[in-house]
Amino acid sequence: MHNISHRMMIGKIRSGLLKWYGKHKRDLPWRKSRDPYRIWISEIMLQQTRVAAVIPYYERFLARFPDVRALAAAPEQELLAAWAGLGYYSRARNLQRAAQKVVELGDFPRDYTTLLSLAGVGDYTASAIASIAFDLPHAVMDGNVVRVLSRLTGARGNVDSLAVRNRLRATAEQLLHPGRAGEFNQAMMELGATVCLPKQPRCGDCPIQRHCVAREHAIENELPLKSAKPSAKRVEKELLVVEKAGKILAWQRTPENPRLAGFWELPEPAQLASASVGERIGEFRHTIVNTNFVCQVFRATVSAAPNGFRWLAKSKMNEVPMSTTAKKALACLAD
Ligand code: SF4
Repeated sequence: MHNISHRMMIGKIRSGLLKWYGKHKRDLPWRKSRDPYRIWISEIMLQQTRVAAVIPYYERFLARFPDVRALAAAPEQELLAAWAGLGYYSRARNLQRAAQKVVELGDFPRDYTTLLSLAGVGDYTASAIASIAFDLPHAVMDGNVVRVLSRLTGARGNVDSLAVRNRLRATAEQLLHPGRAGEFNQAMMELGATVCLPKQPRCGDCPIQRHCVAREHAIENELPLKSAKPSAKRVEKELLVVEKAGKILAWQRTPENPRLAGFWELPEPAQLASASVGERIGEFRHTIVNTNFVCQVFRATVSAAPNGFRWLAKSKMNEVPMSTTAKKALACLAD
């Protein structure tokens, strides 16, 4: 890494990538700002959700909670309602805890270590905020970057292993542009998201193809090597839509269920032994982590709401956090 030709290669990779990014980057709403609050929110939303799905939530969330103080003070129900649909709700709760800490600190942290101490902020997010908002030299290592680096360097080891990760991290840090860390990190992630795709990378359009070991050896489709994933489990489920005078029977999850605490759900037949089940009104699929749910939706009637259930006005349903499965089941009413 210390000889002249290596330094030249690093220089060419940096400049090629930055030039390409300047020309081809997608116009995404969080790229319009260097406000650490906005960058943080986008990074947390993007952790487990696709870009296209995040965009409308991001705009709405920021309209509702425009700064860290508004987020710190938000009532939990309102926060969860704004997050509903993005899934992985612990992210929303951590956002609020972190916002409260930032308010206590008096200003948004400007260094990697303090950023890392915020709830829900790991190495990736701390590096992303430090570099994008403040241009601090921290390389980000998300799935896209790992894929690009493993192909660029021709890493044949398992990228889930610590040894290979550490090697790739060292490369990422050497490549990072010292004065334009934020832009460089975003360029690497963008390359992985739009050109160096998991399947069939578009090497012909790649600004660093001349330096890419995988391309040279025609092994880009074989990298990165990963551990095999356990296959997804399939679970069948039935949900009941009990409607009465413009209201729907629902129950609310309690804090014993940390992932979805506070969310409203529709009943399943086992919870409503007294119900008389009527016509089937639809079916939908829903995937949570490693489980594929196949849900059948039925209409049902009950004479009175059993213990633990409430009647929610259909017109008010947007104001309370409904789980995604409940929303999908209620959408069957409209079909
Ligand atoms: Fe990825 Fe192909 Fe570019 Fe190599 S040349 S970094 S494999 S897109």
